[in-house]
Amino acid sequence: MSEVVGIDLGTTNSLAAKIIDGKPVVLKDSSGNGLVPSVISFHSDGSVLVGTEAKARSLTDPLHTIFSVKRLMGRSLEDLKSVIGLIPQAIHETDAGEGRKVLCVDIGGKSHTPEELSAIILREVRRRAGNPIRAVITVPAHFDESQRQATRDAGKIAGLEVLRIINEPTAAALAYGLDRRRKGTIAVYDFGGGTFDCTILNLQDGVFRVLSTGGDTRLGGDDIDRMLMSLLLGEMGLDSKDADPTLLQNLRDLSERAKIALSDAETTTVSLPPSQQYPTGKTREISRGEFEELILPLVKKSLDRCRVALRDAKKTQTQIDEVALVGGSTRIPLIRRLVGEFFGRKPHTELNPDEAVALGAAIQGDILTGNRRQTLLLDVVPLSLGIVTFGGAVSKLIHRNTTIPARATERFTTAVDNQTAVEINIVQGERELAKDCRNLGRFKLSGIPPMPAQMAQVDVTFLIDADGLLTVSAKEQRSGQEAKVSVKPAHGLTDEEVERMVLESVDHARDDFRARRLIELKAKGATLVSHTKRTLSRSDLTIDPDERKLIEGAVAGVEQSSQTDDITTAEAGDKLNAAINHLSEVTLPLATRVMDETAKQVLSERAPEQVTTGLIS
Ligand code: AMP
Repeated sequence: MSEVVGIDLGTTNSLAAKIIDGKPVVLKDSSGNGLVPSVISFHSDGSVLVGTEAKARSLTDPLHTIFSVKRLMGRSLEDLKSVIGLIPQAIHETDAGEGRKVLCVDIGGKSHTPEELSAIILREVRRRAGNPIRAVITVPAHFDESQRQATRDAGKIAGLEVLRIINEPTAAALAYGLDRRRKGTIAVYDFGGGTFDCTILNLQDGVFRVLSTGGDTRLGGDDIDRMLMSLLLGEMGLDSKDADPTLLQNLRDLSERAKIALSDAETTTVSLPPSQQYPTGKTREISRGEFEELILPLVKKSLDRCRVALRDAKKTQTQIDEVALVGGSTRIPLIRRLVGEFFGRKPHTELNPDEAVALGAAIQGDILTGNRRQTLLLDVVPLSLGIVTFGGAVSKLIHRNTTIPARATERFTTAVDNQTAVEINIVQGERELAKDCRNLGRFKLSGIPPMPAQMAQVDVTFLIDADGLLTVSAKEQRSGQEAKVSVKPAHGLTDEEVERMVLESVDHARDDFRARRLIELKAKGATLVSHTKRTLSRSDLTIDPDERKLIEGAVAGVEQSSQTDDITTAEAGDKLNAAINHLSEVTLPLATRVMDETAKQVLSERAPEQVTTGLIS
C-alpha cells in the first residue's frame, strides 16, 4: 500500500510529515526547513513562487502576494466582512447558478478560488514529501462542512487523494500519544502566527470528541510582533500610518527576530541600520522581563478564551487531565508558565509545537492504512446537521459531537393540502433558525400523491460515512417515492469544477496527468478490493450466494483492469474507473448493512433513534 502523508495546512505555515521506520517525521527541504510559509506570489511572466521566497516578495510586491488563504476557505463574502481588510487583494463572489456561489480573489488580473490557492501551497508541501498521492489534512475543530469540503477540494486540485480531514487538536493529541490513556479530558492550547484556538477534547476508548472550541481568529504571534514594532516606532518618534513600508517591514522582521531570541535569551538587541528614511538608525536592548510585561495582556486574552471554552465544555480547570501546546508562539516561556498555572498542570512540550499537528496527521494516515491496529480512532461531527422546517426553523437530525459513522431518521409531514413535492433544505450549525446556519444544499422529493395536509409521512435520513461524507435521503412512506443527494456545500465547487481545476492546475504541464490518474485509481481500486475481500470473508455476515457471485465478479474486474500501465490514451484509466464504480455499486447494499452494524455498535450507548413529527416547509 502506498504511503500516506500528513499535512498541516496552516494560516501562517504549512508542513508535511510521514511515518518513517514506524515513527512520524517532519519532511524538510535540502536546507533543513520543515515549514513552508503559506504565502504565494504571482509574477507577471506567469511564474508562481510559494513559501519562503514568496514571503520575501511581500515587501516589494504586496498586491501580487497573498497570505492567510485559509481564512477564505469555504466562506462566503458575507462571512468575510471582518477579515477582508487584512487581505490586500480584491475579493468577489460569482454566481454559479442554482443559488451556489463561488468566492474569487483577484491577483494580477486573474481570478483564483481559495481552493486553487490552497492547492498551490499543498502542491509545494507535497513536492517536499516526494509527491505522495494520499494524504490526511488537518483543519481547525471549528471548521464547518463547507470549510472542510473546500480543504478536500484543494487537496484534490493538488493531485492528492484526501483520505481524511481531521481536527488539528485531535492530531496534536495523537502526536503527543495522549490516546494511550484511553480516557480523559484534554485541553489543546494552540497559539500560532495569526490565530488562537483552545479546544477541550474528551477521550473515551480511543474516540476523541470535541467538547468545545474557543479562540480568536485575530490573535497570534503577529500581534506580538506588532506590539514590539509599535514600541520601537514610538521611541523613534514615528507613526505606522506615515512610515515608509520598507522601513515598517524591516522593523516587523526585527521585532519577530527579537521575540524569537527572547524565548531562549534573557536579553536581546534590536539593531536597525541607518537608512534614507531613518538616517540615525536605531539600537535598542530589550529584556525578557520588559517583553513579558508588554505581551501580558495578549496572553491574558488567550486565557480568557480558554475560560470560555472550559465553561462551554462544562469542565473546570481541575478536570483537565492533560494540556498540549501547539503553535510556534507557545515557545514563549511566559505562555508556557501562565498556561501551566491556569490549568494547574505542566503542559506537554516534548514536541516541536509547530510540528505536532502534522505529526499527528501522519499517525492518523498510518491508522487509516491499517498499520496501527491497536488504535481505533473515530472523529465527530463538528456542528449539528439538520433540515429546514416550516417557518424557517431548523430540525436537527445529527447533533454536534456525534461520533461518525452516524445515521439518523426523522419523520416529517406536509404542511398544506395536496402538496405533491417537498424541498429538503440541508443546513449545518447550532442556531435555531435556518437563516443563522450554513446552507449545505437542497433537493426535491416529488411525486407525492395528493392528500390532505399532515397525511404524508416523509422519512428523512442522514447518513455520514467514516470519511465524513453526508448523504441525505427522503422517502414518502405511503407512495414509496424516494429522493437522495450526496451533500456538497452550497458554497464552493462542484465535482466538475474541481476536475477542471485539477486539469488546469499550475503543474499540469509538467506532471503527466494520465499517469497520476492511473496511480490514484489503482490505489483506490486496491483499497476497495482488499476491503471487499475482508468483508466477504466475515463469518458474522449473511451474504446471499448470488450477491457474493456478483461482488466477486466485480472484484475480478477491478483486479484485471489494474494490470496495465498504458497511458498512451485515457482508455485504461476510464476502464479502471468504470470497474471501480461497478464494484462500489454492487457492494453498496452490503456496505450499508456493515455500516448499520458499525453505527449500531458505536451508538449503542446512546439513546435510540428518535422519530418525531415536524412540518416541512
Ligand atoms: P505557527 O502558525 O504555528 O507556524 O506559528 C508561527 C508563529 O510562531 C509566528 O508568529 C512566529 O514568529 C512564532 N514563533 C516561532 N518560533 C518562535 C519562538 N522561538 N519564540 C516565539 N515565537 C515563535
